[in-house]
Amino acid sequence: RGTATPDYLAGLNPEQRAAVETTEGPVLVLAGAGTGKTRVLTTRIAHILSTGKAWPSQILAVTFTNKAAREMKTRIGMLVGGQVEGMPWLGTFHSIGVKILRRHAELVGLKPNFTILDTDDQIRLIKQLIQAENLDDKRWPARTFATMLDGWKNKGLLPKDIPEGDARAFAGKGRRLYEAYQARLSTLNACDFGDLLMHPIALFRANPDVLADYHRRFKYILVDEYQDTNVAQYLWLRLLAQRPSRGREAETAISPLAGEISASSAARIPAEGRKGDRPSAGQAAPPRSEPRSGDSASENRQQQINICCVGDDDQSIYGWRGAEVDNILRFDKDFPGATVIRLERNYRSTGHILGAASHLIAHNEDRLGKTLFTDRADPEDPKVEVNAGWDSEEEARAIGEAIEDLQRREDHDLNDMAILVRASFQMRSFEDRFVTMGLPYRVIGGPRFYERMEIRDALAYFRCVSQPADDLAFERIVNTPKRGLGDATVRLLHDYGRERGIPLIAAAGEMTETEELKPKPRNTLRSLVADFRRWSDLLPTMKHTELAEQILEESGYTEMWQNDRSAEAPGRLENLKELIRSMEEYESLPSFLEHVALVMDAEQDAELDAVSIMTLHSAKGLEFQTVFLPGWEERLFPHQRALDEGGRSGLEEERRLAYVGLTRGKRRVKIWFVSNRRIHGLWQSTIPSRFLDELPEAHVEVMEANTSYGGYGASGFGGYGASRWDGASAFRESAYSTPGWKRAQAAQAGFASGAGFAESGRQRGGPSRGGDGWSGGRT
Ligand code: ATP
Ligand code: MG
Repeated sequence: RGTATPDYLAGLNPEQRAAVETTEGPVLVLAGAGTGKTRVLTTRIAHILSTGKAWPSQILAVTFTNKAAREMKTRIGMLVGGQVEGMPWLGTFHSIGVKILRRHAELVGLKPNFTILDTDDQIRLIKQLIQAENLDDKRWPARTFATMLDGWKNKGLLPKDIPEGDARAFAGKGRRLYEAYQARLSTLNACDFGDLLMHPIALFRANPDVLADYHRRFKYILVDEYQDTNVAQYLWLRLLAQRPSRGREAETAISPLAGEISASSAARIPAEGRKGDRPSAGQAAPPRSEPRSGDSASENRQQQINICCVGDDDQSIYGWRGAEVDNILRFDKDFPGATVIRLERNYRSTGHILGAASHLIAHNEDRLGKTLFTDRADPEDPKVEVNAGWDSEEEARAIGEAIEDLQRREDHDLNDMAILVRASFQMRSFEDRFVTMGLPYRVIGGPRFYERMEIRDALAYFRCVSQPADDLAFERIVNTPKRGLGDATVRLLHDYGRERGIPLIAAAGEMTETEELKPKPRNTLRSLVADFRRWSDLLPTMKHTELAEQILEESGYTEMWQNDRSAEAPGRLENLKELIRSMEEYESLPSFLEHVALVMDAEQDAELDAVSIMTLHSAKGLEFQTVFLPGWEERLFPHQRALDEGGRSGLEEERRLAYVGLTRGKRRVKIWFVSNRRIHGLWQSTIPSRFLDELPEAHVEVMEANTSYGGYGASGFGGYGASRWDGASAFRESAYSTPGWKRAQAAQAGFASGAGFAESGRQRGGPSRGGDGWSGGRT
């Protein structure tokens, strides 16, 4: 090895370089957005490999998404050339968890070919268990239990560890159901997502020899987005990264932690594993499969495990899923002697974007506080734009035009533009608009709007009404919501229909006149067929949006989600409302359905140059030349549920989300808010987000409303009177005078000030906030 600086280190600043080169001992990089944390991790791996400190298989690297893992692999490959033959242990917590579990499945009572339950299977299974306990699954919905389960597993709690309140839930059967659920999974040779961490933790606790094997294997552990690890992930990491020193009770290494997080009653998993946690003899054996350097001294010594975590407390946005930002704040207690490195230079964004983001996030009280600066000061850099629109259709139209404009004038790649929304229902207007315009787009981190489960269900109802021969649609909803029309009944209908060459729904109509069905399904089916007849009869005369709403009400479909206490339910109800809303653009149900078919058919080609649409949650860690941030309105952003359920900390998490959104932009950020959202056919005026008040005037440009859209002119931003303005301004830590758009609005009192998202009251009090941002691949 020469003394010349290797290429991969050359461009780094001194702090980044220190983070890369301090390979031994625990390192925490705590730094703001765009300062190169991920780049440091990547370079660090390249450095470890090219200096021969470890083989690829001795490095464990955890990223937040699979996409990030793939990107990191590619980057490392580029930095060290062909030297890396894969990095088997680079992935998300879940993907690494599966890998570990496959190797030792027997030790937790599974076979190596175990299956991973998807959400539907999980719900079905829970439902059976609830019924087996003689509980009414309407009163005790399976989805509610699934959400509780998720919460327990995020905290690393086994059945015996769950809080008493939870144990008493479900008519006192909370704990029993959890036990029964695990037993059932074990019989099925299956596990759920939470188990991908829970099982390895239990496994390591109970089998010190296995854990010791991993201690010998992993010399370097690296974790990106550390601020969003939950308790289970934290425990898992601690087990792998913290070998109890020789001759010391493992207990002592674990119990301080138990004290620290007992508030969340999380550290009680180990119990049965503790007695055996003592390091086993013969620990110094070299890794079996690795042709390690023959340094026998180091083989006899306890090999050090070097952990490096990077994160940003200001970007902790998964608190609602059990992430504990405290993990990052406690790092130097967990790993004594840790080197803490701060990076302050932002390489991603312009001064305007950075100025806006820093000013906004400074409104949070609960933060460490960081300095961020950039050398980029190009007078040509555009300020952060704030645009006002009339409604979401106009917002989508204007953003679509802005995109085409950038493409035309600056030859801007579509791949380098993104639209980041707060809630998934917002995607609908963009998808519709872009299909109409022929503008390629892709939805990242979740299904496209019309592919969501609740939307497909609703569309199936509409199709049955509009096209009664649509058997696939009928099959989809014949027992959704549950009506006791099982597979057997559907089979009978099929046979009957096939013999006579008639569609299922007609077969159902005829069969209910015969004795072929048992009385109960017969009656149920008869009333369902009658419902469809009635709806079809209304089709020519009734306004199609009202009919659609009536169908969802009368069929019990809306109610099904209203009664559902799961984390996703409120988001699904929002999507259903948005679906009805979107129908207003069309003349009739059939023309709407035709439009949907076209949108569904639009290609989603990974190779294609396309605009990305995603939630703010799934945008973490990414960057784009131009970022569009629509929907900056009170109740939507900050989201009302976050405020209702989280109070001040809920608001602060929303603000961190805004910070994440702004800091995704490299050159251009365009924020939008609209004055009106149409809900159930009624115009509701909205209030611009308080976050707009929190942007510094120096870095923001308020765009003149373009009167060609909607024609509401200068007075059209309004939507609320002066009194509401006072309310909103209470949140403003007035660093500057009232911006122009506010003045315009305040001057224009008297516009009806409706409540925006009128229905949110019904959605409150669910066990967790909506699933609108969850990017973990379960939807
Ligand atoms: P986030 O908090 O959003 O995840 P981050 O801290 O992980 O951000 P990176 O994504 O690693 O930041 O880096 C942001 C951008 O800055 C990337 O495009 C990266 O390539 C670039 N960058 C980082 N360090 C340097 C450097 N020393 N010289 C030039 N560019 C750099
Ligand atoms: Mg990053």
